[in-house]
Amino acid sequence: MKTFENTVNGRLVGSARTFASKNPATGETLGLVPHSTSEQVAEAVAAARAAQPGWAARPDAERKALLMKVAEAIKANNEYLAEWVTREQGKPLGGVGPDQVPGARFEIWGCEVWTQVPASLELPVEVAFEDDTRRDEVHRKPFGVVAAIAPWNWPLLIAIWQIIPSLRAGNTVVLKPSEYTSIGTLEMVRIIAEVLPPGVLNTVSGGGDVGAALVENTDIDKIMFTGSTATGARIAATAARNLVPTTMELGGNDAAIVLPDADPKAIAMGLFWGAFLNMGQTCAAAKRLYVPDNLHDAVVAELKVLAEAMPMGNGMEPGVAIGPIQNRMQFDKVVSLVEDAKAHGATIVCGGKETGGAGNFYPITLVTGIADGSRLVDEEQFGPVLPIIRYSDVDSAIASANRLDVGLGASVWSSDIEKARTVASRIQAGTVWINQHGTIHPMVPFGGVKSSGWGVEFGIDGLKSVTQPQVISVKK
Ligand code: NDP
Repeated sequence: MKTFENTVNGRLVGSARTFASKNPATGETLGLVPHSTSEQVAEAVAAARAAQPGWAARPDAERKALLMKVAEAIKANNEYLAEWVTREQGKPLGGVGPDQVPGARFEIWGCEVWTQVPASLELPVEVAFEDDTRRDEVHRKPFGVVAAIAPWNWPLLIAIWQIIPSLRAGNTVVLKPSEYTSIGTLEMVRIIAEVLPPGVLNTVSGGGDVGAALVENTDIDKIMFTGSTATGARIAATAARNLVPTTMELGGNDAAIVLPDADPKAIAMGLFWGAFLNMGQTCAAAKRLYVPDNLHDAVVAELKVLAEAMPMGNGMEPGVAIGPIQNRMQFDKVVSLVEDAKAHGATIVCGGKETGGAGNFYPITLVTGIADGSRLVDEEQFGPVLPIIRYSDVDSAIASANRLDVGLGASVWSSDIEKARTVASRIQAGTVWINQHGTIHPMVPFGGVKSSGWGVEFGIDGLKSVTQPQVISVKK
């Protein structure tokens, strides 16, 4: 059984204690992962601290060129990394169906693109004010050492979202992957750290205790976190004690609202993958679907046809569209929400039963006859289950979308873009998509409102979020 290693100061390091990473499709142990000690966490932060001034002092063009080499290294190892994503995280290896819905190969391609884009963006000096007496320039400076804490749903891609803009801006990074998906991430960092100076990018691994030791380290200057609201709140409390700025991406409970003029056939595929991409384990997936009385039965029928046609299985096998749920904790949560819905009289249109066996397989499940206030609607299921809620007037659907204390994404589906835009502007969410859901882009800022977090990633705003402004004010 292979034991994988962390990258610290350009060297590969193991730990006396290890834990197993398991394949969610088979239950088999894939390899062993080091459980970093608190001394090793401190060493990783010290390495990042020591490397940071030299990294920030390099000409911008040199950092950009090195990050382009990082993108090449990812590309050169794309199949190796994609296979790790499938084996460890569960999503199908290839694109699914005629639309080539994103799988693990997409995740690695995304890593390449989300590296190239921040490496290509300019961060020019902005002149905030100028007259005959003075000139005030806003320069962008790195924070210093960034602690990045990544989740298990898009383990490599989300790590890249945290790492690359930070490095581009002259920060150095210590990353902790989720304990459920450590191997692929440690391997990706091993590969890309080979083209970077030692200490610029480091990893530690282990459970929440290792993440806590990392964010508590007083040499951390900025925290990038993606994960649950509960863990985000704990990290924010630590950050408040140390007065460290944070970017928090905390998931949500995205509402998708179908307007009465939508065409069920035309929107069904987009709605389906908006909800079930990565088996629903996507922060900005559609997690509650609001459908008007006139279209309810037609939309449910279209989604049912798609749900029943999607082959579920081990994502390494060609043609599989739906993989397992990534871990048992999440599987149990999904089961408990569906059982609660059943117990309260909801209708299971399809799915709704555990498949059994060694893998964490749970079928695509559509639930109707359910209303706001039930657990499946109000709690983030983060799995292959979609509650479909009937509504009679659009105002009430908008009120439903806004009634929860989260607001990452949302979507409006209509044949009339202007009508959809009017509804979209009334929804409290960081992004409202029209006739699509979850379609993020590396140039477009992405982040949540309310308990879905704060700060944005991607594009120029995302790059600025890993910098702090410094004003140079010159008397003329
Ligand atoms: P967590 O928020 O606990 O995990 C996210 C990351 O934080 C992991 O790397 C985790 O490590 C780490 N972590 C855990 N505790 C601490 C801590 N005290 N200090 C620092 N880091 C810590 O999510 P879960 O895996 O428990 O999933 C729970 C729920 O979160 C899901 O059901 C889902 O609703 C939501 N979620 C949202 C995601 C999103 O994209 N926004 C992604 C994943 C989950 P480790 O895994 O090793 O414990």
